[in-house]
Amino acid sequence: MVIKILDKDVSSLIAAGEVVERPLSIVKELIENSLDANAKRVDVIIQEGGIRSIQVIDNGHGITSSQMELAFHRFATSKLQTIDELDELATLGFRGEALASIAAVSDTTMISRPSSQDVATKIQLVEGNIVNVEEQGFRLGTSITVSNLFENFPARRKFLNSAGSESSKIVSVCSKYAMAYPDVAWNLTLGDKNKFATPGNGQLIDAFAGIYGAELAENMLSLKFVSDSDISAEGLISSPKINRSNRANINIFVNGRWISSSLLTQAVVQGYHGLLKERRFPVCVIDIKIKSSDVDVNVHPAKTEVRFLNSGEVFSSLQQGIRQTLAEGSGIPGPEIYDSNDKKFTESIVSSGAFWTSNLKSPKNQLTGISESMIHNLPAGTRSDSSHFKVLPLLRVLGQVKNTYIVNEGPDGIYVIDQHAAHERVLYEDVLSTSKQSGSQALLDSVVVELDSNLIDLIESITGLLTDMGFVFEHFGDYSYILRGVPNIFHSSDPRDGFINVVTNLLNENVDDLRDEAAKTIACHAAIRAGKKLSHGEMEELIKLLEICNQPQTCPHGRPTVIHLNENYLESQFGRR
Ligand code: ADP
Ligand code: MG
Repeated sequence: MVIKILDKDVSSLIAAGEVVERPLSIVKELIENSLDANAKRVDVIIQEGGIRSIQVIDNGHGITSSQMELAFHRFATSKLQTIDELDELATLGFRGEALASIAAVSDTTMISRPSSQDVATKIQLVEGNIVNVEEQGFRLGTSITVSNLFENFPARRKFLNSAGSESSKIVSVCSKYAMAYPDVAWNLTLGDKNKFATPGNGQLIDAFAGIYGAELAENMLSLKFVSDSDISAEGLISSPKINRSNRANINIFVNGRWISSSLLTQAVVQGYHGLLKERRFPVCVIDIKIKSSDVDVNVHPAKTEVRFLNSGEVFSSLQQGIRQTLAEGSGIPGPEIYDSNDKKFTESIVSSGAFWTSNLKSPKNQLTGISESMIHNLPAGTRSDSSHFKVLPLLRVLGQVKNTYIVNEGPDGIYVIDQHAAHERVLYEDVLSTSKQSGSQALLDSVVVELDSNLIDLIESITGLLTDMGFVFEHFGDYSYILRGVPNIFHSSDPRDGFINVVTNLLNENVDDLRDEAAKTIACHAAIRAGKKLSHGEMEELIKLLEICNQPQTCPHGRPTVIHLNENYLESQFGRR
């Protein structure tokens, strides 16, 4: 591969950016270079959080001696020659500025040997100036050492954190690459301690085990899906038994590139909705494959942000893929797969009131505990007319099952109510009926919410709606908001989560009634979770509230709130008739 300096018109089209903010950004650029050079082994050695030195050694294709100096020129790259190639770009780097920017603020030594040469070339630079070039023995590949970072830039050095904190950022990013590239053997050393090593055998689970340990690896489910719109994903997601206190272990990659996206993180969190306790988050490694022309990686100079042509579609594909994997995962209470945008499905259930005949898409509707075959095999006439009620009959609470279902006795048999779905219905109707003057509660500690740039425009266009719903917030920096108040009904739930939830759901292209969608999401967020123990009094109160709903039979997404086992059915099952 030949390194060339990009034409001015090409380089000026690429988002310019200061590549070197901190040791982490250097590590990232260097390992991306190794990967672009097709390395199958990458060793990263860090001293004092990378402030003293960073060394990256790879066994990639190397650089010929005639090109060593050119590699350190600004906009010198072997990866892109004309602007037409930008859309189809398969490499991680392409701006040709990393080595130049890194060398400008440190002492840099690079040794490299391609297979066409018997000896390696060593080049040394001090603050961007070449001070020595010589031949040296070295195995195939490239080693680059960056030391004394920002030594003569006290203003920049001041912004560095402690070595420990810089190190932990590096560990986190290196592990993301190690998982994105399981066919590469990675080795990360901090000082004299080996932090992790992966075998490079191509198995994600083995790379994962190298980083997170074998025990956690055993609790991962494998995710694999292809959506109708040709978005596919592969990876590992934790079983609902596992949870963490923050989102830091939700690792998302797009076409092999790690990205930070509150939108996609939220899609994952929503995929787990109802399965994890509040404020608990899964561990995931997910690589989303999408046509490179449908995604723009050139948004942020540090390249951790992407912009999708159709983010709504990516969001819902990911959310559904997660849901499906969890449903199929062994030993996990199967959440049903439903499509909240499928209006026909919702209407058919609501209009017939026939939540008996379960039109749910999932063949094994384990949540309700009643399989479709069981329903379809009911003898004729056992479906009581009262199962078509539009209002809930008066019910007497008998108790709670699995901290999730409320079992009731009614005028015609047994009525099992899903507490989350029921509460969602109650809150949804409440929000819609009062939202014009809906109350807001001020947050004692206002929170900063960071959002993807594509969400910012959207929020501007729906500020009025969000305010009506009870959110109080204001712009804070380019991509952040300060959230000062949330809808009254939020009670103990995480305000930040709720806000992001509502906004990201409204971004979904298929949403045609924004107010309705906002109400649904707010209700869903604030509703009691499955798994929460309720007192008898609380259950009674919930049932009373459900009784006065306009459409008590379904939750706002169209799932049933009540399963009715009528007397005829009970009798026939027990052979009494
Ligand atoms: P970019 O990666 O955007 O092309 P860089 O400044 O990071 O720009 O690198 C400049 C060039 O140096 C690359 O295009 C590549 O040809 C070469 N290079 C850098 N690091 C390596 C490496 N580890 N192995 C092989 N070639 C490398
Ligand atoms: Mg590069």
